Amino acid sequence: MSKIRLGILGGGQLGSMLSAAAKKLDVKSIIFSDDKYAPAQKFCDEFIFAKYDDKNKIYEFSRKVDYITFEFENIPYDTLEELSKLKQVSPKPSINRIIQHRLAEKDFVNKLNLRTTRYVHIENKKDLEPLTDFLPGILKTTTMGYDGKGQYPINNINQISNLNIDFTKKYILEKLVKLKKEISVIVTRFGNNKYEIYEPIENIHEEQILKYSKIPADISTKLYSQSQQWSVQIAEELKFIGTLCVEFFIDRNDNLYVNEIAPRVHNSGHLTINAFNISQFENHVRAVCALKQIKLKKISNARMINLIGNDIIPYRKNLKLDKNQYFFDYLKKEIKEKRKMGHITILKND
Ligand code: ADP
Ligand code: MG
Repeated sequence: MSKIRLGILGGGQLGSMLSAAAKKLDVKSIIFSDDKYAPAQKFCDEFIFAKYDDKNKIYEFSRKVDYITFEFENIPYDTLEELSKLKQVSPKPSINRIIQHRLAEKDFVNKLNLRTTRYVHIENKKDLEPLTDFLPGILKTTTMGYDGKGQYPINNINQISNLNIDFTKKYILEKLVKLKKEISVIVTRFGNNKYEIYEPIENIHEEQILKYSKIPADISTKLYSQSQQWSVQIAEELKFIGTLCVEFFIDRNDNLYVNEIAPRVHNSGHLTINAFNISQFENHVRAVCALKQIKLKKISNARMINLIGNDIIPYRKNLKLDKNQYFFDYLKKEIKEKRKMGHITILKND
């Protein structure tokens, strides 16, 4: 039988790790990216560099693959829609339509009767003035935000004029939650009520960027099962195929809130590569290529540390690692401040 060919839109580290998982399963990976220096080209079998709206290249890509997926959610909806007429795209493009837009995403979660932070839509500066009730809060662009980009913390109304907010964009204003903890739940759905779910992962962010993840999360059994239940409910409602991550807030009274949904593999799940029999990446490839579902087994507790900007330098100089430590270099062309350059996972069972 000839090899299954998986097309992946996006060429960052998530694309690299998906390609590595595909290789393990003897699936050929073809990456399409609009970044000439996309790091995933070093990990995949074939690389196409073109803009996401380049119709010819998109058709060429579709002819080379059997299944299509993506590693980041901001691929233009029209491209995904066009591709889905030619090959199976998983998760399906209509899901992106919801999740690419913070307002649509939060409305969707609320309709399921799951708690989110309080939020309002903001279209111009005047909309902000009567909203002291939502302060302190965070103003977030409705589209294209990630790693804290496009976010403005606002403590009081007088701050707004000093912030230089670009009001050609649309925003939501979210009330700040007094956070006790942040967790995420990763689930891979294969079909109706068929899924593999990882245990909740505890996450620590610095300057709105993920810095540390660990399992087990230090949370009550109630929050453990509630967060898993809500994640499955979201995946079922979306009829999601593949790996999805739900990010949660826990406040000081142990209330759970859905923060956001990532319709893809997620940074907090990097530790699944070493800590489980099947990683979130392998599970994703299995689900989107209609391969066998295998029961998930945990191998070890684990901690993951993101190497951001210059953090990577000592590790590149052959820093000696213990045998329970695993170093991943994303092989990005340039080190930049706040750029995720690599990570380390440490397996630990005490
Ligand atoms: P991004 O798309 O950049 O990941 P998030 O909405 O997840 O955006 O925000 C990034 C981080 O900022 C969160 O993980 C959390 O640490 C902090 N944060 C965002 N919104 C809130 C909020 N309403 N209350 C408290 N902390 C928040
Ligand atoms: Mg987030």
